[in-house]
Amino acid sequence: MKKIAIIGGGIVGMTLANYLDNQRFEISLFDDEKNQATKASAGIISPWLSKRRNKKWYQLAKEGAAFFEKLTVDFELNKEIYERCGTLFLRKKDDLQELEKLALERQKEAPEMGEIRLLNPEETANLMPLLKPAPSLYLSGGARLDGAAYLLHLKKRAEKRGVKLYQERAQIRKLDQAWEVSHERQRTVVDALAICAGPALKDLLLPVGYQVKVKAQKGQLLSFQTNFATENFPVVFLEGAADLIPFQKGKLLVGATHENEAGWDLQETSAAFEQLTDFADYLKNQELLDFPYRYRVGTRAYSEDFAPFFGPLEDDSSVVVASGLGSSGLTTGPYIAYLLANYFNEPEKSWKAAHYQKEMTTYIQKNEQQ
Ligand SMILES: Cc1cc2nc3c(=O)[nH]c(=O)nc-3n(C[C@H](O)[C@H](O)[C@H](O)COP(=O)(O)OP(=O)(O)OC[C@H]3O[C@@H](n4cnc5c(N)ncnc54)[C@H](O)[C@@H]3O)c2cc1C
Repeated sequence: MKKIAIIGGGIVGMTLANYLDNQRFEISLFDDEKNQATKASAGIISPWLSKRRNKKWYQLAKEGAAFFEKLTVDFELNKEIYERCGTLFLRKKDDLQELEKLALERQKEAPEMGEIRLLNPEETANLMPLLKPAPSLYLSGGARLDGAAYLLHLKKRAEKRGVKLYQERAQIRKLDQAWEVSHERQRTVVDALAICAGPALKDLLLPVGYQVKVKAQKGQLLSFQTNFATENFPVVFLEGAADLIPFQKGKLLVGATHENEAGWDLQETSAAFEQLTDFADYLKNQELLDFPYRYRVGTRAYSEDFAPFFGPLEDDSSVVVASGLGSSGLTTGPYIAYLLANYFNEPEKSWKAAHYQKEMTTYIQKNEQQ
């Protein structure tokens, strides 16, 4: 049996551990859970109306969102983990019409967007009673994913499949025909590596001769425990710098900040609170602010073109990487992991991902002197 080590147990690494063929591979996963983005994240799965011009990114995000139909069945995700609750976009009336045009255009290739409907102020307030009446655009196919609950669920499945899980920091070293993974005071020798370590990919690959162009971005959000009947609320893209993400049992998230300068910092800040609750104007009587809340802080990885990069290293087919998932990694992460699993499970097929991303050498270069 071949041995594979996965480094990083966020949404990519943990999904990969569950899709790799456990009859063919002995799988171990190392995750120190430091600065993890997945468990801090908000979980909006609704990429279709993004204004980003990067077509490859859009292709990946669109397919990533569609992939949830399979993911839900494969891993038996319940509604507390993943739910297609719909998304509401609040904008000025003229902007909403533009947005509707874009939605109708994109729906031709993304039927999973579901129903597209312009709502009048009354209809908006009926669907989301927390909001002051205002016009909006509704997509029934939008969804929410609780990153932390997803990981917990997949961790249990991975254990049952015989994946060895280590809550430890790992380092790597190249051997002749293999890789050595050192963790705590142990060393494990493996045939192949999957490095799904967010922005820490850079530090893992540097000692073995690669420069990785990826940076850390701090993200904060607020998690409120309310007595609202959040079960049927949609996700709301507010105008401005905050979104509302309701979960079951009164849980309501408000996210998220994008702090490039703060990088790896995990400190909760009052500036984030101010920024995220500035939207409270939309909430009747600002009642949300009376409920207890806590911060969730994580570290996203972002690349030069704010797009993910993943797949085998150019000069070493025994190592795959995935990083740079940025602020849409819950949307793209499971699908990326599935593609990486297929790379190992079906070695007879050649790796093709050029329609999803630029060349790997855009993001990772081998040091000359190595
Ligand atoms: C506040 C916030 C809100 C977000 N909201 C959304 C959203 O609404 N929709 C969406 O699609 N995306 C969202 N995202 C983005 C999404 O969460 C990330 O893109 C995604 O979770 C990244 O997954 P990952 O597996 O690549 O990395 P991570 O989840 O960061 O996992 C990487 C793991 O690798 C581990 N690791 C690193 N180095 C080592 C080492 N040497 N040894 C062992 N372990 C190591 C880390 O500890 C970490 O646990 C949000 C992110 C944040 C922070």
